[in-house]
Amino acid sequence: MKWKVDIGGILSPMTILGAVMQKPNTIAYPDVQKATAVGYRGFHTNLLTDCIGCANCQDVCMNNAIDMIKTDKEYNAKNNSQCIPRIDYGRCCWCSLCTDVCPPSSLKLDEEYLGITKHASDMLYMPKNR
Ligand code: SF4
Ligand code: SF4
Repeated sequence: MKWKVDIGGILSPMTILGAVMQKPNTIAYPDVQKATAVGYRGFHTNLLTDCIGCANCQDVCMNNAIDMIKTDKEYNAKNNSQCIPRIDYGRCCWCSLCTDVCPPSSLKLDEEYLGITKHASDMLYMPKNR
């Protein structure tokens, strides 16, 4: 029986050494965050000086993810209900219907998406006031 040395087979594992010189394809998440796409649907924000407490957002939400909560923060003088929306991120599917029907466009989805918590109560989210 004649033996044949497979040079290619011996050297091919060495090509992995070339990967050491390459830039990584991953990012150091969460210290480095990937830029979001234009129109990305992240966390809700609600500009309280514009929100009129109409509850349109609550009415349209098919997942019942919005509760209107009494606020002690500074709110719009036209907000007769004195209530603002709170989002349940255990139910929300980020469809953005709530922002579509918001008359003063105070409710928006911004680019922030990093949400890590050990507490289930944190899933009830008061949109940031901006
Ligand atoms: S994004 Fe959709 S599911 Fe989430 S709170 Fe708004 S309407 Fe409801
Ligand atoms: S966020 Fe918009 S739709 Fe919801 S209560 Fe305020 S004004 Fe109305």
